[in-house]
Amino acid sequence: MFQTLRVKLFASYLLVILVCLILVGALGILGLRQYEQEAVLAHGRADALWLARTLTGLPEADINTPQLLLERLRHELLALEGSLLVVDASGMILAGTSQAMASAEHIPLPSSAAFEASAAAVPWQRWRYATGERFYLLYIRLQHASPAAQTAYLVLAIPAADALRPWREWLPPLLAIGGLALAVSLLVSYLISRSIVHPLEAMTGAVMEMAAGHYYHDIRVRSRDEIGRLAAAFNRMSHEVARAQRTQRDLLVNISHDLQTPLTSIRGFSQAIVEGKIRDPETLRAAQQIIYEEASRMVRLVRDLLDLARLEAGQVQMARVPVDMARLLQATADKFRPQASAAEITLQVTAPQTLPQIVGDAERLELALGNLLDNALKYTLRGGYVNLSGMVVAADKLAGVLATGVDIPAIASDGRWLVISVTDTGVGIPPEDLAHIFERFYRGDKARADKEGVGLGLSIAREIFQAHGGEIVVNSQVGKGSCFSILLPVPVHMH
Ligand code: ADP
Repeated sequence: MFQTLRVKLFASYLLVILVCLILVGALGILGLRQYEQEAVLAHGRADALWLARTLTGLPEADINTPQLLLERLRHELLALEGSLLVVDASGMILAGTSQAMASAEHIPLPSSAAFEASAAAVPWQRWRYATGERFYLLYIRLQHASPAAQTAYLVLAIPAADALRPWREWLPPLLAIGGLALAVSLLVSYLISRSIVHPLEAMTGAVMEMAAGHYYHDIRVRSRDEIGRLAAAFNRMSHEVARAQRTQRDLLVNISHDLQTPLTSIRGFSQAIVEGKIRDPETLRAAQQIIYEEASRMVRLVRDLLDLARLEAGQVQMARVPVDMARLLQATADKFRPQASAAEITLQVTAPQTLPQIVGDAERLELALGNLLDNALKYTLRGGYVNLSGMVVAADKLAGVLATGVDIPAIASDGRWLVISVTDTGVGIPPEDLAHIFERFYRGDKARADKEGVGLGLSIAREIFQAHGGEIVVNSQVGKGSCFSILLPVPVHMH
């Protein structure tokens, strides 16, 4: 029964309302009782004092005879509320104006201390008669009683109001208020539970669908509370899972495609050689060259793939030794000089000899930097320029160094950073490609059409820089060129 949130909410409201009603009822009844007592006593005391004054005018013989005493007081009784009893020193009733009361034999007496304490006032106490009726008893000591006399007290017995009366008066309005509160809480719990239950049910459904293989979901929740944030987080997760799933699929397609092309050509040429179809030694040499190049391409692809997979899985054990970055920049650039001069591109290095050392893996840093240089040379036209620069910049000065429009990575919020930039005057990268070039196998349309490559170079480079606590950012304009900037943290103790 308490399985649903809606019922639980309503039950808790119900409980709170009931507790409130009972509290209000109890407090009300207590208050009424108090009020009744004060009213009865105020009245009763005045009556008792008046009776006491009347007694002083009576002859002693009248006072000592209970029946006679009541007889004398009879005409006063008309003005009194309640009845009169005459009791002896032990509380035994000797006479009474009310038949019913007189048939009781005994009433409790206040302690004599109560009489001492309230000389001016009148001692009183509450008493419940055998029939369940409640009385306030006010005691007047018979001053003139002779030692031999039996009579001791004149008692004014005022009936208390019906104990259940306050209840009966309070109950209907209390119930009405309770009913109203219940109706409101029913509405509120319905509204609240709807805003909670709806999205939760939607999410449960979506999770079931995810388990069945449908990963993309967009649960619409307007609220900004915890449920809203949960739904937003869920949506993000579902998009991420869907994206990962898509990437996985694309990856398979890409790998098979990139392997198939060289394999087909290798098979074609080798088949021709095996079947002796190529006689001309010149053509034979060309065919062998192609087979060699295609096989090398496959080896490169498989090596890159493996590298990337290991980097992403965090399985690569990066060396952690001081690396002289000035030397590393020069060495990397030198490796690409033949490629640069073949393409008639001017390759320059502008970095001070005093660049700080970085703790890391020299070989992998060189590989990553090489990928950037390779791209710069690949996507720059004849006669262009490629520049490799390095400098140390404080975090708060990065904005002035990085190209405009580049977001400063969140990691570079303080400290000092080595900024290495590879700038080219090449074809540039269209804005729609910029966001994706670091993805595995992503290649620009132009690159796909006429440049060698598989689209893994930048992914690998980024993994390596990130593994060094760094980041890579890019700024590019179509037709003008690109600038890839790497940020690497400068260790505090090395300058
Ligand atoms: P690949 O160069 O093998 O295609 P990369 O991961 O190195 O793969 O680069 C991804 C894509 O980014 C390239 O296909 C190209 O479109 C673009 N790109 C990378 N570097 C440059 C550059 N310097 N100039 C223009 N485009 C670039």
